[in-house]
Amino acid sequence: MVGFQGVAEELKVGIIGGGYAGMAAAVSIAARSISVTVFESAQQLGGRARGVTYNDTQLDNGQHLLLGCYHQTLHMIEQVGGNVELDFLRLPLQLDLHHQFSLKAPRLPAPLHLLVALLGAQGLTWGERVNAVRFMLTLRRINFHLSNDITVTELLAQYQQDTVLVQKLWEPLCIAALNTPIHKASAQVLLNVLRDALNQSRADSDMLLPRLDFTALFPQRAANYVEQRGGKVFLSCGVEALRPLDDGIELSSARGTEKFSHVICAAPPVVAAKLLRPIVASGNHGALAETIVQIDNLEHQPIYTVYLQYPIRVTLPHPMLGLHQRCSQWLFDKGRIAGQHGLLAAVISAEGIHQQLSQDELAQKVIAELRDEFGIAEQPEWFKVIAEKRATFCCSPNLQRPQQQTSLPCLLLAGDYTAGEYPATLEGAMMSGMRCADLIAG
Ligand SMILES: Cc1cc2nc3c(=O)[nH]c(=O)nc-3n(C[C@H](O)[C@H](O)[C@H](O)COP(=O)(O)OP(=O)(O)OC[C@H]3O[C@@H](n4cnc5c(N)ncnc54)[C@H](O)[C@@H]3O)c2cc1C
Repeated sequence: MVGFQGVAEELKVGIIGGGYAGMAAAVSIAARSISVTVFESAQQLGGRARGVTYNDTQLDNGQHLLLGCYHQTLHMIEQVGGNVELDFLRLPLQLDLHHQFSLKAPRLPAPLHLLVALLGAQGLTWGERVNAVRFMLTLRRINFHLSNDITVTELLAQYQQDTVLVQKLWEPLCIAALNTPIHKASAQVLLNVLRDALNQSRADSDMLLPRLDFTALFPQRAANYVEQRGGKVFLSCGVEALRPLDDGIELSSARGTEKFSHVICAAPPVVAAKLLRPIVASGNHGALAETIVQIDNLEHQPIYTVYLQYPIRVTLPHPMLGLHQRCSQWLFDKGRIAGQHGLLAAVISAEGIHQQLSQDELAQKVIAELRDEFGIAEQPEWFKVIAEKRATFCCSPNLQRPQQQTSLPCLLLAGDYTAGEYPATLEGAMMSGMRCADLIAG
């Protein structure tokens, strides 16, 4: 087997964190018949995309949406035994802001499907539609590449996208994709997502809504896959310290201290920095300090999900739809998606005044909006607000994100926050884990 140059002959990889990045790394390593052990501090796998049980109902820590262009994620779900067509409700690209805006892509090849959809969009004047099409054509002409990264607000102003277009189309898209307000968001990262989702195959712009919870969808299957190949996955087993050696790296957890040829730290950025700091303080690995600075410079953005269990006859007109200028940005009908009748989820992404409300006040606001918009007069039987305060990093322009390979050959970083073209997404997390495996295995 190949090791890093002149140090390890036999590869033995330890992975810190059993979220999507860590489990993608574990699968890629186990698939190459390399020894792998995953240490997860929580009682279950999945991290920021995990199943949550409440009142005997299967929820997630937040409603997630995948895009057809998340090729690595979809491929890996199938590699560990999933079936993308059964595991998801697949919808062709459609954006619906209730009573305000509606765009639906026809069955035409990309990018024609989008251009025709924009020209037929309801809720925009003819001039606004032509303006949006012109903008998309310009983005294609420049290959979705900006010579200087700027904020999304600046980009939209540069291409004369007026207030209505911004509020009905670009702002909801940007917040959904980057979880960052448009005045703070990186235009280049948004263009990366638009390029991959809208510009190549029509299926890339499909929206995929999971029918399984997020622990079952991938990480649990990944753990089975890893264990069937001789790997180990330990839950409730947080890693407390790392100590680089001349020929590998020592990892300390509740199970004691174990030596590995490589460690992939796939814990959230704050935890990664905490594990790296003592290594730098020991005096021998000063170059790691730059990685810690990059992590410390990351800001975070929240996502709130309000689940509401109504009587089973309550439904929404579509599995997923948005609200214009309301607190609830996107609504999901879990009955239509996963057969959980009467269960609705309201998602509120990125920072905003909703953060000043108590969970009870937030739920009451969502209930009032559902009544006003859809005439749902009943009170829900119960509600559950899940606030993920550090849901993602704030995806601002020219962000320096840490590389997967650190200055120590035996230590790699995986996670949605590490270097890559994507914002904090499942696809970004999975790609970082796979890249770590490639770097180790060669
Ligand atoms: C509410 C919400 C909604 C989202 N919606 C979407 C969406 O619609 N589409 C999309 O693509 N993305 C979405 N995301 C983002 C996506 O969930 C994340 O990008 C992805 O899950 C990050 O995975 P990760 O493996 O990088 O990190 P994490 O999921 O944070 O995994 C890190 C793991 O490390 C573990 N850990 C922490 N400390 C230790 C330790 N000391 N030792 C061992 N283990 C440790 C944690 O318990 C965790 O399991 C959403 C996120 C949230 C929170």
